[in-house]
Amino acid sequence: MLDIKPGCILQLKKNHPCGNNKWQVYRTGADIGIKCMGCGRMMLIPRSQLERKIIKVVDSG
Ligand SMILES: [Zn+2]
Repeated sequence: MLDIKPGCILQLKKNHPCGNNKWQVYRTGADIGIKCMGCGRMMLIPRSQLERKIIKVVDSG
């Protein structure tokens, strides 16, 4: 299991429409809150779904 905690920067497989693929974690729990580092959009995503989309943890906070 990946160590995801607030402040982590994640690189995801799919780019956001703004062209960015790095997201910063702002909250954890059953759903993980991530914020796009390109446009600032925030979204909540179930942890199990998010883990399948992660290429790597760029910065562990
Ligand atoms: Zn974006």
